Amino acid sequence: MLDGISRRHFFRGAGAGIAGTTLGAFGFGEIEAAHAANIRPFKLDRTVETRNTCPYCAVACGIIMYSPPDSGKDGKRSIMHIEGDPDHPTNRGTLCPKGASLLDFVHAPTRLTKPRYRAPGEAQFREVTWEWALDRVARLFKDDRDKNFIATNSSGVTVNRWTTTGFLGASATTNETAFVTYKVVRAAGGVVFDNQARV
Ligand code: SF4
Repeated sequence: MLDGISRRHFFRGAGAGIAGTTLGAFGFGEIEAAHAANIRPFKLDRTVETRNTCPYCAVACGIIMYSPPDSGKDGKRSIMHIEGDPDHPTNRGTLCPKGASLLDFVHAPTRLTKPRYRAPGEAQFREVTWEWALDRVARLFKDDRDKNFIATNSSGVTVNRWTTTGFLGASATTNETAFVTYKVVRAAGGVVFDNQARV
């Protein structure tokens, strides 16, 4: 006890004095502004959200891709973040390590973004346009179907089979796209058909 002041009172008073001095040095009214200026803005604020499907495996998890609001003016929207879609019934927002690394896949310098073609006998692939590639595929399908379509079997029973070309659907499709793909293939008589997602 020092002249009526207890040890506890002494330290409490000294602490309050130091805190008050520090706040005063900053200027109490500017603390909130200084604090706010140092908080990094939420990086997904005002971004554009685009829903898609993870292309890696047959689980076909839903993803959301985020783009800066000012991108896309040149027709190409950049992607700055990808995460699981919490509203997707398959994954409910979760992604496995492969799906979680999709941003690297999107921006990989080795990623193919245009079709390539290697003609019989050629050693190298060459870049072609989507129009050329799709026409080429359609031409080959039509020629092969015309040549090998089986309307009736040896007993004269109508079978409408096309067995010489196979089709494979990818998991990166919606149920609706897979349904339409299946219908087109079956309508053409195709019986060799599978889908990565086993739709
Ligand atoms: S996130 Fe993983 S489990 Fe889901 S579709 Fe992609 S690779 Fe498959």
